[in-house]
Amino acid sequence: MLYFVGAGPGAVDLITIRGQKLLCKADVVIYAGSLVNPELLQYTKKNCKIYNSAHMTLEEVIDVVKIAEKENKMTVRLHTGDASIYGAIREQIDMLNKLKIEYEVVPGVSSFCGAAAALGAEYTLPSVSQSVIITRMEGRTPVPERESIRSFAVHKSTMVLFLSSNLTDKLSAELVAGGYEPETPVAVVYKATWPDEKIFKCTIETLPQTMKKNNINKTALILIGNFLGNDYNRSELYNPNFTHEYRKGKM
Ligand code: SAH
Repeated sequence: MLYFVGAGPGAVDLITIRGQKLLCKADVVIYAGSLVNPELLQYTKKNCKIYNSAHMTLEEVIDVVKIAEKENKMTVRLHTGDASIYGAIREQIDMLNKLKIEYEVVPGVSSFCGAAAALGAEYTLPSVSQSVIITRMEGRTPVPERESIRSFAVHKSTMVLFLSSNLTDKLSAELVAGGYEPETPVAVVYKATWPDEKIFKCTIETLPQTMKKNNINKTALILIGNFLGNDYNRSELYNPNFTHEYRKGKM
């Protein structure tokens, strides 16, 4: 049996209780060493075999799982944040299915939630934005043309950019070309929830220089939109005059 476990964004106590319990029981752990906090490995048993997938190919990862399965051992595949976001789990799942190896996915706290928490921010502010676009700049991994930053920028909704810290010149230009005002607020959250977390506030226009000045080129999220500003409407849910299933309004 293999469990894909979301390790959370960084802080050791932001893994789920289910994930932690599985880590404690695992005979084999394969963790994404480029981003998973290695302190999480303290939960593993003494004789647990630990592999860092940063140095491995997909085939090598699956080979480790195959051997563990033959020996009737339990494997935890530890992914940063939540495995559904840029986690490359689908290709692993397809291989496991072919090999008839059972698996289960345990969700985690994605870094985009960790970043909002660090800022005390709400992505979905009434009258500002009710949608969050999670995307990335095209790097060595292509992004479908119909999902260009420019086309998303037209909506002026909340945007969360993963994997893009070293491409902010182009990002900033594309956001403006798509329709965002250059002075739209931006927050960069570096290593959200880690002890060395850093927050930088700027605008779309000043984003590239902010990144350069502070030497941020990895492990950061770029959050864009007027949800970072001060204008918004109150929610209807908690409006004294609003009636809903659980509460009668005053008017
Ligand atoms: N599955 C992960 C994302 C993996 S992609 C998740 O749910 O968070 C890797 C990218 O995630 C990094 O390049 C960075 O953009 C972002 N990231 C991961 N952890 C982060 C953290 N603690 N703070 C800021 N960004 C982080």
